[in-house]
Amino acid sequence: MAKKISIVVSVYNEELGLHQFYDHTSPILNEMSKKTGWDYEMIFVNDGSRDGSLDILREFAAADDHVAVVNFAANRGHEAAMIAGIDYASGDGVVCMDADLQHPPESIPAIVEKLEAGYDVVSMVRTSRADAGLFKRITSAAFYKVMNAMSGKTKFENNSSDFFAISRRVALVLKNDYRERVRFLRGYVQNVGFKKTTLEFEASARVAGESNYNLKALIKLSLNAICNFSDVPLKMGIYAGVVSIVAALILMIYSIVQYFLGTAPDGYSTLIVVLCFMFGVLFIILGFISEYLAIIFAEVKNRPIYIVDSIITKDGEELK
Ligand code: UDP
Ligand code: MG
Repeated sequence: MAKKISIVVSVYNEELGLHQFYDHTSPILNEMSKKTGWDYEMIFVNDGSRDGSLDILREFAAADDHVAVVNFAANRGHEAAMIAGIDYASGDGVVCMDADLQHPPESIPAIVEKLEAGYDVVSMVRTSRADAGLFKRITSAAFYKVMNAMSGKTKFENNSSDFFAISRRVALVLKNDYRERVRFLRGYVQNVGFKKTTLEFEASARVAGESNYNLKALIKLSLNAICNFSDVPLKMGIYAGVVSIVAALILMIYSIVQYFLGTAPDGYSTLIVVLCFMFGVLFIILGFISEYLAIIFAEVKNRPIYIVDSIITKDGEELK
């Protein structure tokens, strides 16, 4: 029987770029299929989009039997969307990619070649990112530095992305054994072991629409959540700690100035700075403990990672 590659595409409010994605990717997959003999399926996971994405995906599914849509009952985030696609995928290999063409489908033939050659994990490493400003580059580089410094044996590829491919057996490991609620899929993929390789790609700018990962939006959403459903209050310690340390720094400068002007009472400066700083450190440690507590809380609740509303294929719509 012919081998099959499953392309998992997470979709959240992507109506502006979806046609472009499909029109661009489909011919590449057909071509690949002809050349290599690998069949393919495209699994779009609609992560509770509030725009017209679902209707567009329905069109794709109705016209093309390579397409299946896993339609979520609500937005669950990119991580949940990817694992849902992997759960549903039936291919001998699975490729996860974004719907905004930041992950070039041109790389898929090279990925299939690697899978064919017996690799189980193909990490796609960004060589450059057209979309990212200096801030995103620096924070992203810092993120990987810290992760690698703190995670012991587990290692993370710098500039790795949510663009990767895995063999059937890795997909099964993720499907059966990596069911955490608080998830970091690309980290699991890089650390399951097996035969691993990397390919490079250049991340282009989004074709249309805006990035969904906006810090302000995330903070606002969290603050609105009711305590029972949110662990934000548990994490207040981190913010309090940062504020204390900033206050300590300001007070330190102020006290030094006072000292040189000769207007400070004896010992006051040292006292206030040490007090503020120690409180800052204390709150940060408290905040980190709470962070772990929040993760344990999420795992103990054991709620589903995602909830499927329906599966849409050429044969119609199957309610779950
Ligand atoms: N996405 C998703 N659920 C979300 C947010 C994003 O499925 O809650 C999808 C989105 O449609 C895109 C991918 O995840 O295909 C990456 O999102 P985005 O492009 O906004 O992130 P960035 O590339 O800016 O990191
Ligand atoms: Mg993107």
